[in-house]
Amino acid sequence: MPVYDYTCSCGTRFELMVPSWSSPAPACPDCGAETRRRPPSPAVHGRAAPPPSMSSAPQSWEGLNSGDRDTITHWRRTVEARQEFESRHPEHHEHRDAIAAHEGRFERKPLTYKELASRAATSKDATQAAAEASRARRTGDTPAT
Ligand SMILES: [Zn+2]
Repeated sequence: MPVYDYTCSCGTRFELMVPSWSSPAPACPDCGAETRRRPPSPAVHGRAAPPPSMSSAPQSWEGLNSGDRDTITHWRRTVEARQEFESRHPEHHEHRDAIAAHEGRFERKPLTYKELASRAATSKDATQAAAEASRARRTGDTPAT
């Protein structure tokens, strides 16, 4: 189960292990108000810390806020930073592509961040890129669901 950082408007920060990315944010342990999940940021841990591993990225379309552009951009940069880190430190290499989505229309052929990023590079729009990736799957050998 992933561990996420949460922050409350009262200033409280805490970490919590939750079942999945889509789990609702818990109430603040100090004041009971709603909390927000903080995106993992390599910068706050200092230069020496490696970027989050690929497996920490959300692996469902829902986890990407159904294709929210800022969310995708954040994770694409995170994954790219990780890939660069791994290229410099092969001992940390994860032998698989990071998956951005694997449910629904991406169930049979998961959408990788690499694919999403390369399509987004041409369309400049991650949502558009995902739509194109989905369309490519439908016109390929994968039956539509
Ligand atoms: Zn609070």
